[in-house]
Amino acid sequence: MSESKGYAALIAKAALIPYTFERREPRAHDVIIEIKYCGICHTDIHQARNEWNDYLPESIFPMVPGHEIAGVVTAIGSGVTKYKVGDKVGVGCFVDSCRTCPECRSGLEQYCTVRTVWTYNARDHEGVPTYGGYSDRIVVDENYVLRMPQALPLDACAPLLCAGITLYSPLRHWQAGPGKKVAIVGLGGLGHMGVKLAHALGAEVTVLSQSLKKQADGKRLGADHFYATSDPETFERLKGSFDLIVNTVSAQIDWNQYLALLKVGGTMVLVGLPEKNIPVGAFVLTSARRTLAGSQIGGIRETQEMLDFCGKHGITCDIEVIPIQKINDAFERVLKSDVRYRFVIDMASL
Ligand code: NAP
Ligand code: ZN
Ligand code: ZN
Repeated sequence: MSESKGYAALIAKAALIPYTFERREPRAHDVIIEIKYCGICHTDIHQARNEWNDYLPESIFPMVPGHEIAGVVTAIGSGVTKYKVGDKVGVGCFVDSCRTCPECRSGLEQYCTVRTVWTYNARDHEGVPTYGGYSDRIVVDENYVLRMPQALPLDACAPLLCAGITLYSPLRHWQAGPGKKVAIVGLGGLGHMGVKLAHALGAEVTVLSQSLKKQADGKRLGADHFYATSDPETFERLKGSFDLIVNTVSAQIDWNQYLALLKVGGTMVLVGLPEKNIPVGAFVLTSARRTLAGSQIGGIRETQEMLDFCGKHGITCDIEVIPIQKINDAFERVLKSDVRYRFVIDMASL
């Protein structure tokens, strides 16, 4: 074991404070990564505040959050073949899975039916708690490590590892592309990547945001249209408009109102994760053969495909870089939707 430094919530809802903990010694297939940057995902807040205790088997404190990890390889185990010292690499929301179930075999490790080992707030196969990227380094099996776009800045690519893939995967699965009308609900960390990616895939993109405050940004990011959901007229005007809606909102909203914006046969995909169950009427689905679906990040293969796609198209996240000492303020600002559009921690500040 060797010592690692980071920031942790010692108990649920506590402010994050400096924390020292142990990481495993590298095994034959492990890569040691010096973490340079880590994005702040809304999920980090949900988990540090234990808002998902209805859905998770347990929450593990002290918790070192962070699953948008970008860094540089500093050492490799004797059996590592994919990476070498000095490589720019990333780690997303999980660091292992069973590797043998049909989902793992087909590259859908995020839906492993045995056990996906999440990057933090989870236990590895030995039962040892995992600790995330608000820290100086991490030890990860090479099969769960990603190669970062070489020509793009590492800080602005860190959030691709969760926000990027969480939008890329449903956009690809439900075939966002030329001739498709796609709406992104919520212009936050996930939403702003949804706009960039759907635009790059060739879809006609509409942003549905609470107000028009972010309209100029939305257009700059690639949106063709922008509407405020606080204006009831929006829901009248856009009824039956979209092939695909990707909903990134984590609060309770009127889900039926949004479903009604789908065309016949359209799909609304939930990626936002509200604390409580969501009420949905049957008629809004049956009357137009609509589908309500969900999607969770993406597998290793698809995450690498997304990173390569971003490298090719020059797509990065819009970020505000902060020192780790500002982490608790950053959490508060995310809760107020006051971030353009992702906070990224500069780990040199640790
Ligand atoms: P975020 O940056 O806070 O963005 C959420 C956006 O939702 C806000 O920017 C805001 O957009 C909108 N919003 C917030 N409160 C709202 C309200 N009361 N009513 C309507 N809209 C509201 O969060 P994020 O990091 O993008 O994450 C969003 C959600 O996705 C979280 O629940 C997170 O846990 C979840 N998540 C899921 C996955 C997955 O795999 N499925 C992966 C990552 C994250 P406007 O200002 O434009 O209205
Ligand atoms: Zn996330
Ligand atoms: Zn599996």
